[in-house]
Amino acid sequence: MRRSLHPLILLTACAAASDPNGNEQPVMKEEVVPDSVTVVPIHHSALALQWNGTTVLVDPHDAPIRYARFHHPDLVLITDIHGDHLDTTVLHDLDLSGTDLVVPQAVFDLLPQDLRSHCTIVANGGTTERKGIPITAIPMYNLSEDRPYHARGRGNGYVVTFGDQRVYISGDTEDIPEMRALRDIDIAFVCMNLPYTMTVDQAASGVLAFKPKVVYPYHYRGQDGLSDVGRFKEIVQAGDPHIEVRLADWYGDR
Ligand code: ZN
Repeated sequence: MRRSLHPLILLTACAAASDPNGNEQPVMKEEVVPDSVTVVPIHHSALALQWNGTTVLVDPHDAPIRYARFHHPDLVLITDIHGDHLDTTVLHDLDLSGTDLVVPQAVFDLLPQDLRSHCTIVANGGTTERKGIPITAIPMYNLSEDRPYHARGRGNGYVVTFGDQRVYISGDTEDIPEMRALRDIDIAFVCMNLPYTMTVDQAASGVLAFKPKVVYPYHYRGQDGLSDVGRFKEIVQAGDPHIEVRLADWYGDR
């Protein structure tokens, strides 16, 4: 009956910030709950998840200093080949001597030899368990003909299971059927930026289909600036007030 439990989430590392129009962004409050997943938004697609002494880094990229607190991650998940997901400079700056990397084949093919030995390759729909954490690869791809950026089968979204909590990381995708069919997701990270992934409306529609308990918009800087995540929140909450939309500061220090 775990679905009766409210997700227990600790959120840290959020600061006050203003968006490009000078409007103040929400400031996250810290909650401390034992045995919960700690969510640390880092930058764009990069985030850290911590649980029971295990640190999972997702798509570490951009300035290595961003990862100073997570220098020895237990797991690194990489979703795709683009520079805002796969960044070998950052990977080489980290101490990955005891780290397992989980990657799709296309990412493995681009990694230098010293990093390949740490890799587990998982294809769409595949599963693995590393450091006691079950991980399932979820497809991520573009549906629209005018968005040819992510071919089906190349990249991975992920569902990561921490005890009885399931975390979904979308990667770069539109509101594909595989996303809409997800169930029992406690925390979701969902992209929304044009022209690369999807619109705010598509993202909201996808989220209303799979109904995570908590959703974070992430990966929302596109060609014309930041997507309107406030509108995303309004649409989701109007459609299902039981879904909690959390707006974190992914770009405040750019
Ligand atoms: Zn991306």
